[in-house]
Amino acid sequence: MLNSSSTETYDMAVIGGGINGCGIARDAVGRGLKVLLAEQGDLAQSTSSASTKLIHGGLRYLEYYEFRLVREALSEREVLLKNAPHIIWPLRFVLPNNKAVRPAWLVRLGLFLYDHMGGRKLLPATQTFKLNKHSELGEPIKDNFEVAFEYSDCWVDDARLVVLNALDAAKRGADIRVQTRCTSAKRVNGVWQVKLENQETKQSETIQARILVNATGPWIDHLLHEVKVLAEDKHNVRLVRGSHVIVPKLYEHDRAYFFQNTDGRIMFAIPYEQDFTLLGTTDADHHGSLEQVKITEQETQYLCDSASLYFKKPIERSSVVWTYAGVRPLYDDGASQAQAATREYVLRVEDEAGQAPLLNVFGGKITTYRRLAEDALSKLRTWMPNASAEWTKDAALPGGEFALEERPQLIQQLQQDYSFVNHAWAESLMCRYGKRAWDVLGDAKSLGDLGQAFGASLTEREAQFLRVHEWAKDADAILWRRSKLGLHMTPEQRTAFKAWLH
Ligand SMILES: Cc1cc2nc3c(=O)[nH]c(=O)nc-3n(C[C@H](O)[C@H](O)[C@H](O)COP(=O)(O)OP(=O)(O)OC[C@H]3O[C@@H](n4cnc5c(N)ncnc54)[C@H](O)[C@@H]3O)c2cc1C
Repeated sequence: MLNSSSTETYDMAVIGGGINGCGIARDAVGRGLKVLLAEQGDLAQSTSSASTKLIHGGLRYLEYYEFRLVREALSEREVLLKNAPHIIWPLRFVLPNNKAVRPAWLVRLGLFLYDHMGGRKLLPATQTFKLNKHSELGEPIKDNFEVAFEYSDCWVDDARLVVLNALDAAKRGADIRVQTRCTSAKRVNGVWQVKLENQETKQSETIQARILVNATGPWIDHLLHEVKVLAEDKHNVRLVRGSHVIVPKLYEHDRAYFFQNTDGRIMFAIPYEQDFTLLGTTDADHHGSLEQVKITEQETQYLCDSASLYFKKPIERSSVVWTYAGVRPLYDDGASQAQAATREYVLRVEDEAGQAPLLNVFGGKITTYRRLAEDALSKLRTWMPNASAEWTKDAALPGGEFALEERPQLIQQLQQDYSFVNHAWAESLMCRYGKRAWDVLGDAKSLGDLGQAFGASLTEREAQFLRVHEWAKDADAILWRRSKLGLHMTPEQRTAFKAWLH
């Protein structure tokens, strides 16, 4: 193994390329700091691509009196929607009243607070209606659910949100390194010496940074042991696994369902990738490896059974076409049940004689990542006296420089400019790239100009674009994180694509 020592000194080194690391790196570089971000694998390869993909206040957190979190998350919905209308869009949720679990008045009260706590302007308010009399929304649901509430939240492509933050950070000058693991860090003369190992070449390099940010999500305690600032037996995070299953679409309309399970938990059924329905999630303490987090047989059955309590047509285990699971790195507040552990984020700064601060990021939500980044930088203000003020609230993410209502025109424009692209394809490009869709298709005049076609509209041109401009190194990155095209491809097509890539 080769080792090298770089004389480069960064203002800030961020370890972890999930939503929190990328959000902090983007915010910091935009304030004039010299920033490096190291991700041991692919951007968003862990928790930040395994979420339920909601930008939401978290209706159920009201039951745990997490009012501050809900208010902050609710107000972030419209901020993020404005900044990334290509990968985030409004979603209406139908909540069938289940008298056996919660009285209707309690749900109505929760939704009243939900509508009024977060300064809602763009998203429509809650409605109550007779579900079993509603031809479209009531059709797939069992007739015994008479009343339902419909309320608003937003959908997000979580993995793309991460990549767009990294992309914006890189455009502003941040050094974004994937396949780069932080293997140790120590304070020397008031500066961090951070050892980074390239996972492809196995070469090591030591860089210097004035500030170190530990945004490693589920690995947070692990990194703390490596930087030797934590006693061996200390555990700050509670690792709570959440799993999802994907089944062929269960209904035709574009609303999601919010189901109250009989065990007090809740779950969602969400329209997914045009042809599918996403069902999730679970809450189970996770004790195994963090490298390959997988749904258990028990969780799969639980999700199918719980949804079958509501849908007229039972969901068979055999209809599951895809699954994914992730581990929530929740701050350990000592709650007895996994589902009750706080979803608030906690930021802790430790320094050594006033120098070389280490910021640790515990917990958090995709929804609140931008606020978390702002809070992180305000906690570090003492060590970055020249940094400029907060700026991300009104700053569009790459490709998202348009208003939500302009989306249909942009899709139309894309089809006009590239006559060989049909509506569904133009729409899916818009949902991935927004205004960058033109950069992907470039000067192509015909389908043939996009090179080899791999199925499900994936072409050589798009794959190369992702490799060159979005740090995609392997087939999984392209098929499951930068896009979800893998879901629309046959196993043979996926294998052929993998073979082409290598
Ligand atoms: C099942 C589930 C559903 C969820 N649903 C939602 C939702 O609908 N809405 C919402 O707002 N939130 C949701 N969340 C929460 C949200 O997904 C997480 O809070 C968020 O993704 C955490 O991001 P992170 O950046 O802290 O961690 P991660 O995304 O895990 O990123 C940490 C990164 O650090 C890297 N890393 C670790 N060690 C090292 C090292 N030594 N060197 C370099 N890199 C390293 C890892 O590879 C990883 O990529 C959900 C979470 C789960 C699990």
